[in-house]
Amino acid sequence: MKAWWVDSPGPIGTHPLVRGTRDAPAAAQGELRVRVLACGVCRTDLHLAEGDLLPRRQGVIPGHEIVGQVDAIGPGVTEFHTGDLVGIAWLRHTCGRCRPCRHEQENLCERPQFTGWDCDGGYAEYATVDERYAYRLPVDADPLTTAPLLCAGIIGYRALRRTDLRPGGALGIYGFGASAHLTAQLALHQGARVHVLTRSAEAQKLALDLGVNSAAGGHDAPPEPLDAAILFAPAGELVPIALAALAPGGTLAIAGIHLSDIPSLDYQRHVFRERTIRSVTANTRRDGEEFLTIAAQLRLRPVVTTYPFENASNALADLAGDKVTGVAVLQVAADV
Ligand SMILES: [Zn+2]
Ligand SMILES: [Zn+2]
Repeated sequence: MKAWWVDSPGPIGTHPLVRGTRDAPAAAQGELRVRVLACGVCRTDLHLAEGDLLPRRQGVIPGHEIVGQVDAIGPGVTEFHTGDLVGIAWLRHTCGRCRPCRHEQENLCERPQFTGWDCDGGYAEYATVDERYAYRLPVDADPLTTAPLLCAGIIGYRALRRTDLRPGGALGIYGFGASAHLTAQLALHQGARVHVLTRSAEAQKLALDLGVNSAAGGHDAPPEPLDAAILFAPAGELVPIALAALAPGGTLAIAGIHLSDIPSLDYQRHVFRERTIRSVTANTRRDGEEFLTIAAQLRLRPVVTTYPFENASNALADLAGDKVTGVAVLQVAADV
């Protein structure tokens, strides 16, 4: 099969992602083999290619927002059949025995495996998944607009829940990429007032087109105190800025898997008066199922820039250069 993999991590300009041919994987016990139709391009793929996240496997194929058709089933599979449309997401295995797993916090599993990090992902014509971690998708789902829901969407959903935003409250969104633009739509549907703070003029325009209440620069003050904020930009310098913008009792959720260093905080300005700072780590399968159901009901649609499979490296370079408005998706199969 055709595939892209991380050769030696480094700045995206040094072409850390290489394209070549690999043996297509087989479906092992309990697994589905999926013919990949589309795969979203997530900032985590960029962190992996650039070495901000060290690959956990030499030559790993990135990509964890996979929409594909079940093409073969391994022994013992009971829930899926060939031809089913499924999604493969970031979380692909948890141990089921550690303390978080036993307390319905499988996103914090001590021995997890992730798609496109521990195991090969969707920058390839075929991928595999344990059927217990596959998401069943509606037969008529559009692969290109559904793929970004599988990480950007689910993580944004979890991040929004982690803020405990009250109904009708004011939400600040720092950074406005793939996850943020889905989360903003979700929050607006739930009745929140949404203020987007991001440096890119294109992203500010997209935010306003999607109906947010205001859009300004990342270092600007929002027009009202924020009941909650989500930091999507991987920029630690925005943490004190977002905390200072919170109303007393407000919560900042940090959604990224990677964040540059956080500058020192001033207790009075940034923390006192019961402001809360929370991180967001992966998601549970329940988060995924809940979000995909809500996304289908609300007809949540990402704004997609499609890249041909051959241009995966360019897609990551565009992401690194802040040139992607909305979300980048690889069209992996020609017949999508
Ligand atoms: Zn576990
Ligand atoms: Zn992701």
